[in-house]
Amino acid sequence: MPDIATGQPTGTRLGGGGGIDAFIAGLPKAELHVHHVGSASARIVAELAARHPGSAVPADPAALADYFTFRDFAHFIEVYLSVVDLIKDAEDIRLLTFEVARDMARQNIRYAELTVTPFSSVLRGIPDRAFMEAIEDARKSAAAELGVTLRWCFDIPGELGLEGAEETTRLALGLQPEGLVSFGLGGPEIGFPRPQFKPYFDRARAAGLHSVPHAGETTGPQTVWDALNELGAERIGHGTTAADDPRLLEHLAERRIALEVCPTSNIATGAVASLEEHPIGRMVAAGVLVTVNSDDPPMFGTDLNTEYAVAARLLELDPAGVAELAKNAVEASFLDPAGKRALAGEIDTYTAAWGG
Ligand SMILES: [Zn+2]
Repeated sequence: MPDIATGQPTGTRLGGGGGIDAFIAGLPKAELHVHHVGSASARIVAELAARHPGSAVPADPAALADYFTFRDFAHFIEVYLSVVDLIKDAEDIRLLTFEVARDMARQNIRYAELTVTPFSSVLRGIPDRAFMEAIEDARKSAAAELGVTLRWCFDIPGELGLEGAEETTRLALGLQPEGLVSFGLGGPEIGFPRPQFKPYFDRARAAGLHSVPHAGETTGPQTVWDALNELGAERIGHGTTAADDPRLLEHLAERRIALEVCPTSNIATGAVASLEEHPIGRMVAAGVLVTVNSDDPPMFGTDLNTEYAVAARLLELDPAGVAELAKNAVEASFLDPAGKRALAGEIDTYTAAWGG
C-alpha cells in the first residue's frame, strides 16, 4: 500500500497546549466503519437533490438538518434509503466518493475502509462496471491529490434478503475492484438473522475477502456469536450488546477481534439511550480491541474527530490514550504490515512532537 507512505502532507499542527480537541484534530487516523452514501455531507446531498428534482430529500441545507433527525432506527433506514435514491449515475458516485475523501483529509484521516453497498446503486440503474470504475477513479484521485488511502468493504443490504446477498457476492467476486478488501452485512438485524448469509460469506472469504458484518447493534449478543461462528467475522460492526455477555467480551479480547464502536450513531438510532450509558468503557475494561468510528457522520451530525472526543471523555483519555485508540484502528485494519507500520509511525511521531 505505497500511498500510505508517500509522505503526502497531513496538515498536522504540532505543539502541545491546544487541548484534547486540537490533539485529535491533527492526529493521523484510520477509520474502519463508515458508510459511503452515509458520508454524504449536507452540501453534497443538497447538490445531488438539486440535480435530481422530485426526490423526497430537501435540497436546502437547513431543511436537511431537520430531515436528518431520526425518530428511531427504522426511520433512520428510511431516510438513508431516500438519500441512496439520489445516486443516479456513475458521475454521482465518483463525485460523492471523492468529496467524502476530501472531508476525511480535513480531519487527518489517512486511511479508511469505506463500506460501499454496490447492489443499491446497481438496482437503481447504474451499470455495475461503471460503478466500479467510478469508485476506483475516486480512490486513485483521493490517494494522489488528498493523501487519503481508501479501501472498500462491499456490504450486503440485509433488508433485501438473499437476492441482495447473491448480487453483492456476484459484484464483489465477479468484478473485484482493486481496492476491495472486505465483505460486510448491514441493514436491520431484527427479522434478518445472520446465519442465512453464511453461504455468501463462505464464498467471499474463499476469494480472500475479510469478513466484517454488522452485529449486536439492535439485537443481543447472540447475533455477535452468530457473526463470529457462522460468518467468520474478523471484526464486528458495532457489537454494542456484546458488553452484555462477559463470555463474549472475553472471547473477543482473547482473539483480538475488534469492535467498530460508533458512539453518536448508537444514540441517534436509539441503540443506546445516552452516551453516559454507552458500553465502550466496559468493552475497554474487558480488554477488547476497541476502535472508534463515525458510521454515517453527517446524518448523525458528527465526524470522526468528534467521535474521538466523545471516546476521550467517556474513557477519560489523555493525548497518549487517544493515540493508543488511533493505533487500535491501525492494528484492526486490513492494511498490509508495511502500511500499518507507516501509519502507526505517523501517529507516534505526531504524539511525541505534541508531548515535547
Ligand atoms: Zn454501519
